[in-house]
Amino acid sequence: MSQVIRSAHKQFDLTVDVVIVGAGAAGLVAALSAHEAGAEVLLLERDPLPRGSTALSAGLIPAAGTRWQKAAGIVDSSAQFAGDIMEKAHGEPDAAIVEHVVGQSAATLEWLCDRYGLSFSVIEDFSYPGHSARRMHGLASRSGEELVDALRQAVEEADIPLLCEAQVTALHATEDGCVTGLIYSRPDGSVEEVGCRQLILACNGYGGNRQLVAEHIPSLSDATYFGHTGNQGDALVWGEALGAAPRHLNGHQGHGSVAHPTGILISWATITEGGFQVNARGERFSNEAKGYSEQAAEVLRQPDGLAWTVFDARIAAITRQFEDFRKAEAMGAILSAETIEELADKAGLPVDALLLTFEQVRACKAGGTVDPFGRSFNGVAPLQSPYSIVRVTGALFHTQGGLAIDSSARVLREDGSALPNLFAAGGAACGVSGNQASGYLSGNGLLTAVTLGRTAGTKAGLNCRS
Ligand SMILES: Cc1cc2nc3c(=O)[nH]c(=O)nc-3n(C[C@H](O)[C@H](O)[C@H](O)COP(=O)(O)OP(=O)(O)OC[C@H]3O[C@@H](n4cnc5c(N)ncnc54)[C@H](O)[C@@H]3O)c2cc1C
Repeated sequence: MSQVIRSAHKQFDLTVDVVIVGAGAAGLVAALSAHEAGAEVLLLERDPLPRGSTALSAGLIPAAGTRWQKAAGIVDSSAQFAGDIMEKAHGEPDAAIVEHVVGQSAATLEWLCDRYGLSFSVIEDFSYPGHSARRMHGLASRSGEELVDALRQAVEEADIPLLCEAQVTALHATEDGCVTGLIYSRPDGSVEEVGCRQLILACNGYGGNRQLVAEHIPSLSDATYFGHTGNQGDALVWGEALGAAPRHLNGHQGHGSVAHPTGILISWATITEGGFQVNARGERFSNEAKGYSEQAAEVLRQPDGLAWTVFDARIAAITRQFEDFRKAEAMGAILSAETIEELADKAGLPVDALLLTFEQVRACKAGGTVDPFGRSFNGVAPLQSPYSIVRVTGALFHTQGGLAIDSSARVLREDGSALPNLFAAGGAACGVSGNQASGYLSGNGLLTAVTLGRTAGTKAGLNCRS
């Protein structure tokens, strides 16, 4: 288990200004920022190539007031975005952090574009639940793999040392919590050490650690973990050992639409554009429009922990912009049919029940009846033949709780004071989703990875110059 070794006078052969643990979106952005601030940087990553949960994601980052939104005629503001985050998270997040990350969102994406050539565009053709404006930005393929590769390339082109296959196993620190260095292991079993003046934890949360998930997120203790397995909660364990305050440890992003058994993410556009979910009885079971995060537990409560997402060809055309959806189609996970009867037959669902559910949804959309689950179908187009269906399950994507930080990304103790030289960003830090699955607003993950990564890198870098 990861640990902190207390040593007052530990000496290192090499000491670097800013060491960063983890080369996902948060760590790579932090490295670029610390380097720009004039610091010597070392990025340590346990994998042979930086991937992290970032590579598994759709790579979509919400930002308000960007030039891409303006060009598309989308009216948005930081205040509006902050309001959406707070509403979704029931007012639980730290308002100062929310204000900081939304305020930095547009500038961060524009900086990544102008300085490092990341060509973002805004998704204009559908809305994510809880966002009052269209503000999701992504690279061309709409995949996190493209995002992490582009960030790694930027780091390499800036000649920032990135040491892969270096798994940090322990920290050295003084009694007052000042981190003086790190111990990391190499694939051949050797162990190395490096000193640091400032440390940035960018090694995400504890989604890959079954024991911590069972302890903090019991509702998903048996759920498939869909994030990066290397994220074992090291930041949380080290931070707590150093005296840092943990926050909102039940907070997480679940997802109620992972194709089963292929394990491919099916975009929630299938729902927001007018699709719905049924269980093995062919019946709806929830207000799907609340959000995909809280839907994970709803789906897992159904027989065999499965559901079917039902949509049509118009929605499939919108969703096809996602590489994952195209993969799911290529693997035969998406079934299509001209009639509802044929759809039920292909999916193995009871025909009469599915016909009744289609009729109930049609009536809600026509305004004739109120949805018993409370979903508003106002202005939502009816589904039309040919129809599509995909069998899905619920999964844990990543944890949103983590180390308490201030708006400089400095890690805080329970009394609100900052640890001497420790920063956290992305999934290592407490996010802006509060303490419940329902608090996760789409994009909160990468929003805090890139904005707090930039803040942590800049502040840590500047600290070395003062
Ligand atoms: C399927 C899926 C889809 C998602 N889609 C979106 C989306 O579209 N938009 C969005 O905002 N969010 C999304 N998310 C969440 C998003 O991926 C994460 O919030 C984000 O990637 C976190 O970035 P990070 O840099 O903190 O962590 P990561 O990208 O996970 O990087 C952490 C890195 O730290 C390394 N590491 C861990 N421990 C150590 C150690 N001890 N020593 C050295 N290295 C270590 C890991 O190997 C990893 O490379 C999605 C998540 C999943 C799983």
